[in-house]
Amino acid sequence: MARIQSVGVVGAGQMGNGIAHVSALAGYSVVLNDISEAALESARETIDRNMARQLSRESITKAELEAAQARISYTSDLSAFETVDLAVEAATEKRELKEAIFRSLCEVVPQTAYLATNTSSISVTRLASVTDRPSRFIGMHFMNPVPLMKLVEVIRGLATDQETYEVAVEFAQSLGKTTTNAEDYPAFIVNRILVPMINEAVYALYEGVGTVESIDTAMRLGANHPMGPLTLADFIGLDTCLSIMQVLHDGLADTKYRPCPLLVKYVEAGWVGRKAGRGFYDYSGDAPVPTR
Ligand code: NAD
Repeated sequence: MARIQSVGVVGAGQMGNGIAHVSALAGYSVVLNDISEAALESARETIDRNMARQLSRESITKAELEAAQARISYTSDLSAFETVDLAVEAATEKRELKEAIFRSLCEVVPQTAYLATNTSSISVTRLASVTDRPSRFIGMHFMNPVPLMKLVEVIRGLATDQETYEVAVEFAQSLGKTTTNAEDYPAFIVNRILVPMINEAVYALYEGVGTVESIDTAMRLGANHPMGPLTLADFIGLDTCLSIMQVLHDGLADTKYRPCPLLVKYVEAGWVGRKAGRGFYDYSGDAPVPTR
């Protein structure tokens, strides 16, 4: 019998709803949790809309769509996690918040359940240490948007055992993903390289080297990136980018990782990208318009 049949996802934002979506389509029964009822409602709409798009592209059938939708339950009550085999945490990127979530999860999930975090940058070992099962704890770093992106970085904490690693790889593969192994150092592989590049693009904007448009065009056409770094930053969320830079800065104690003051200012303004309707671009009209 498969080791995972039922999955709980904590955090119904961009990542959590994507993880719930792909898990339900792969046949798992899914409980999606958030503290915000509005986030749960918007997750349901997003999942329904994204599955409808897959149906219209004929990548799934109507029967698959209906079965997947029926496998997801939405709740603000963590007690629904008492039967899950795997709990994946995808809540806001704040260490204290994630630690509190894992402490609560340990009181609810079965003793045999595995725990995973989708953190972009926080130490897996450290998050594992607040739980009652560091050997069954692992990092599973999905990429955004989850239904489209093929990679999951799998990150073992110091205490993670081999069985947990195998369960995580098997689970990711069952979702149609490819896994790559990253060691537990700040921001792992993808974000260790990607987010400092985004921060550098914000510095280029801050110092007037280029406009939003010229920086994005330069990197799209000059480096063959599918998306310019400022468009990508808006897509990831500027709050997430900033917190990754802070983790790199603190964790590696190297000034080359200092967050650009302009990135800090955008986050302070609440202009955190697409999810807020405004970041380096304004998304209120039909097409994004640069804000600088
Ligand atoms: P988001 O802001 O879209 O969603 C976070 C959700 O967590 C919100 O709906 C919020 O209400 C909820 N939440 C906060 N506290 C909670 C609690 N105590 N219990 C339950 N839910 C709670 O953020 P996101 O972009 O989905 O990021 C979530 C996680 O995934 C972060 O750790 C982030 O670093 C990571 N991540 C993000 C990306 C990306 O590109 N955005 C990619 C990979 C990993």
